[in-house]
Amino acid sequence: MLRLMHAPNPIIGQHWVNVLAAAGISCELHNRYLNGAMGEIPPDQCAPELWLVDERDEALARRLIDAASNGPPTGAANWRCHSCGETLEAQFTQCWQCGATRDPRHE
Ligand SMILES: [Zn+2]
Repeated sequence: MLRLMHAPNPIIGQHWVNVLAAAGISCELHNRYLNGAMGEIPPDQCAPELWLVDERDEALARRLIDAASNGPPTGAANWRCHSCGETLEAQFTQCWQCGATRDPRHE
């Protein structure tokens, strides 16, 4: 087991677990029920901790969590609206020009 990192809150911690599980990485969230003890122990000690079952997954796990917390990596490809042809940046999922939702099948 390897302690990977602290999550800022249990919701994000659980989100990370889901992201890693979707990639086939076994992990566990610890300390998630200790929020009620805030103030009695240092906050760093009661934040949820993400533990990897197999430490060999560390590099991949960190990359996945990075991507999950920062959205698409900078430099991701632009896409073209299938409806009006406008070119949009990767972080947008909807065309600002005509409101069409991104549809990879039509790019
Ligand atoms: Zn459009």
